[in-house]
Amino acid sequence: MGDLEELVEDVRARGLARVFAARGRELVTSPDGLRLIAGGNLRELIRADPELRPFADDPVSPKPTPRLTLTRRTLVALAAAGLLESNVAVSHGASMRDAHRYVKHHPDLREADGSPVWYVDAAGFQNWGRTVRNTPAMTFVPRTKHGVREIVKWARANHKTVRAAGYRHSWSDVFSADGQVLISMLPPEVVETLPAVEPPIDPQNRLQGIQLVGRVREDGVRKALCRIGAATTNEQFRRWCLDESGGAWKWTVPLNVIMVEITWGGSNAPICHGAGLQHKTLSDLVAEVEFVNARGELQTVSDRRLVRTAAGCFGLLGIVTSLTLKLDPMTYAALRPESPRLALAVPPPAGFPVPRAVDMRKVSRADLKRATRRFIRHCERDYYAEWFWFPYQENAWVNCWRNDGAREDAQPYPSEEQTAMQQMGTFLVQILTDTTWARLPGRTQAEMFASLAMAGLPSDVTIVTPLIEALHFQRGIQNFRVRDMEFEIPIPPRADNRRRPDWSICQRAWWDVIRNVYERADAPLRVALEMRVMGGSRVTMAPQHGNRLGTCSIEILTNLRTPAREWRTFMQDIANLWMSYKGPDGRPLNARPHWAKQWQGLTFRRRPAIRHLRDRAYAERIPEFRAGLRAIAKQGGYTTRDLRIFSNPLLDDLFGAVFE
Ligand SMILES: Cc1cc2nc3c(=O)[nH]c(=O)nc-3n(C[C@H](O)[C@H](O)[C@H](O)COP(=O)(O)OP(=O)(O)OC[C@H]3O[C@@H](n4cnc5c(N)ncnc54)[C@H](O)[C@@H]3O)c2cc1C
Repeated sequence: MGDLEELVEDVRARGLARVFAARGRELVTSPDGLRLIAGGNLRELIRADPELRPFADDPVSPKPTPRLTLTRRTLVALAAAGLLESNVAVSHGASMRDAHRYVKHHPDLREADGSPVWYVDAAGFQNWGRTVRNTPAMTFVPRTKHGVREIVKWARANHKTVRAAGYRHSWSDVFSADGQVLISMLPPEVVETLPAVEPPIDPQNRLQGIQLVGRVREDGVRKALCRIGAATTNEQFRRWCLDESGGAWKWTVPLNVIMVEITWGGSNAPICHGAGLQHKTLSDLVAEVEFVNARGELQTVSDRRLVRTAAGCFGLLGIVTSLTLKLDPMTYAALRPESPRLALAVPPPAGFPVPRAVDMRKVSRADLKRATRRFIRHCERDYYAEWFWFPYQENAWVNCWRNDGAREDAQPYPSEEQTAMQQMGTFLVQILTDTTWARLPGRTQAEMFASLAMAGLPSDVTIVTPLIEALHFQRGIQNFRVRDMEFEIPIPPRADNRRRPDWSICQRAWWDVIRNVYERADAPLRVALEMRVMGGSRVTMAPQHGNRLGTCSIEILTNLRTPAREWRTFMQDIANLWMSYKGPDGRPLNARPHWAKQWQGLTFRRRPAIRHLRDRAYAERIPEFRAGLRAIAKQGGYTTRDLRIFSNPLLDDLFGAVFE
């Protein structure tokens, strides 16, 4: 490890990005290395890079630029990193405070304590991934169930539809619409601020909170029933699990989305998931849904059959105020991340034409056979099974583990220092992507991101940590915006034994992407290929529903600099490949996209995506969905026609039939 002077010289000669690529691991995995690239040193390094120097030295305009929106928090973070004079941050902070003047107190609508409901008039809405834009007539920010009830009744009286938003991380158009009503479950400044702010649970906000409410026995395991406010975030829940006055290391969810900046109402509505063959979706964990219904009344659904419709219904039943989840007793994950050569992580299926760019030297048939057996063991036996390929890298990153760690060995992970580093690292990459990297060719952007990502991830170490920590092993994800398309491909049976899974479908789906990336002249994959193995689902509209032998959950991610047309063409090419697979009976597998991710505007099997999903992929599920909604509506004293108040144009197109 050199000193700062030596590093500055290196950056001067090669540029910061190349230095990160070559020396990333050395820099991000030791306290000395971390110190070298943190705080004031980072400023020195950015100054040393001839390309980045203007960004480090020019006082950043307090006005947001089209390239990078500098929010108050961003400016404070830049100031902390020494990239900005603190008086600029402070003055901009004041102008952000001015923005709060736009938040108004509604003259008629009241919270439970009689205080006015907050709202903003005609505020432009954008989702995190910048694929959805609209201007609702009103954006409400309620803090109590009573407030939500008032809003729904008001919307109904004013002939407006009303939909919620959590952290706004979904890419599909599942939010509100022009001229309608949006309920922001979190304050807009929390969701729009980078780097992420992650506030603790607000005791004044009755839509946030975590409470153990009972016990239940399931599959021979005694579980806790836990009521979670729909506006509670994953980060707040993670902290609660470890807090002595909360879950006290006793309870955890068995699966979750990796990212901590997600609301529970937001991840339940479009049926989100984690990894591991024994796990279904988050919505499968739900025992009770509480929501404000079309009459503006509070309604709960806990009947086991109906919960399968109410959890994961895209917000069509109303505004969810809380979910009661089944929690598992806390266990301890023993993470053993590895970075094997690409061909040995997920071996190519038999006879697959491996692209020439992938180095297969010194990979023998015996190596591939051994690696295939290992891959299958990961799929079938691991508690959590996940693989990453960062574009053009010779190695993959394998994150497969069991929950067989001992409590006495367990430590929080990542540590506070590592968390801070990951948060600053992702934020720095976002700044680089928005500035210097934007001028570079796509492939260079991809390679630089990939080498930094590989450098920042642990490898060949054992980390024992509470399960909830292992599920959220990577932090700071909020700080780096991406685009993302994901498919849930059913694992078919083997031709020689219909009761056994044929894992080669995962190998094929994985290698089809790698080959496509190397074969094309452009470079649309600039972040990652990620694959997880998981179970099926009992949730009515889950894309994993009916996947008896498991699901290959696979996705492609890129940065926001990738030209839209290039990314769209790539998504279509990959969707065509993933939808072309057949089972041993010769019938196409029912591969379906993740509802919350990118699929709109594509064609599936030569039909517009919406038509394919409605008329083919979910043709057997929609009648059950309609029956479930109808039964719930009847219990609440309204009809499915009344549910239109919670719909939007996309959901009308998909599920128009259920409202009849
Ligand atoms: C970087 C990144 C990583 C991700 N990783 C994963 C992953 O590992 N696994 C996975 O499955 N998904 C993943 N996702 C997708 C993500 O989990 C979903 O987009 C999720 O819906 C986001 O939660 P949110 O709080 O941002 O909700 P939003 O995106 O704001 O809302 C999602 C939907 O829920 C509805 N909704 C929100 N709150 C309520 C409520 N109270 N009542 C009724 N309806 C409501 C909204 O109307 C919208 O239709 C990832 C997304 C990102 C950006």
